Amino acid sequence: MKKIIIFLVSIVLFGCQHKQVDNKIVNIYSKRHYQVDKDLFKKFEEEHNIKVNIVKANSDELIERIKTEGKNCPADLLITVDAGKLYKAANENLLTKINTKEINADIKEELLDKNSFWLPITYRARIIAYNPKKVNIDELSTYEDLTNEKWKNRILVRTSSNAYNQALLSSLVAHHGEEFALKWSNNLVDNFAREPKGNDRDQVRAIVANISDIAIVNSYYIGLLQSSSDSLDKKTGESVKVFFPNQAKNERGTHINISGVGLLKNSPNKDNALKFMKFITSEYAQEYYTNNSFEYPVNKNVKPSALIAKWGDFKIDHLDLNELGIKRKKAVEIFEKSRWN
Ligand code: FE
Repeated sequence: MKKIIIFLVSIVLFGCQHKQVDNKIVNIYSKRHYQVDKDLFKKFEEEHNIKVNIVKANSDELIERIKTEGKNCPADLLITVDAGKLYKAANENLLTKINTKEINADIKEELLDKNSFWLPITYRARIIAYNPKKVNIDELSTYEDLTNEKWKNRILVRTSSNAYNQALLSSLVAHHGEEFALKWSNNLVDNFAREPKGNDRDQVRAIVANISDIAIVNSYYIGLLQSSSDSLDKKTGESVKVFFPNQAKNERGTHINISGVGLLKNSPNKDNALKFMKFITSEYAQEYYTNNSFEYPVNKNVKPSALIAKWGDFKIDHLDLNELGIKRKKAVEIFEKSRWN
């Protein structure tokens, strides 16, 4: 009897909840925190008359929250800056499959999720920024070569707790195995110019301050610095050059990661969520992204911004981006074992 009452009460509550669903909203849990997103959300609101509600936190926190909220989770979409975290959400059974072709047939094939759980929004390359006065471009080649003795005391990079570095190491685990990745991590530490600290932009600032010569950073930070209204940041960005690692004919290409979006299994406003996915990958939104956040567009009809096009074309590492999630646990363990703090 008690069970029946609970069942009835939950039907009533669930029913009420559904009645409360406002058709004019989409709720997004997002790791992204950039002005460019706010601008695009506003544009979406105006175009579709659908209000965008955002909850911002880091991806692991958002995933925990979605799990805790369960069926009562109000979120429709999860946005992360890492395919690894979208893989994690899918793996924890929080996402529902989408028809990516139906949402947008113009997304670059190589950036799509083979399992159809997420959609890429932008992509970024983990590049080497270098001081052209101290480094000859011919000296640079691959991520693997950064452990070469010639780079002793010359490499700048942030801590190993950072997701961008964890994704890069995940790709090395996928390509070369755990043993290699541990060795690479330790040998790289031997070449560090200083104890890892600061964010990606701080590594570039350290090059310009002559603390050292090369830094491992995400490509869009160079674009953000080069286009900054702060004259010092602008000068900093313009003082370094961008190198895309692993470009030789026999090499696999530069490590990339995506910002992407997944549709939550319990999404209460699914139609609006799909409209949002269509919008965010549209030519308008993709042009806005590349011209303002200096990420690479995922829509094949949109060219990279003039500023980032100047760095040249590059071959991307075609590793299945889900591997950045599959190998993540191992990568974190390897970092813990290695001397990279
Ligand atoms: Fe970032």
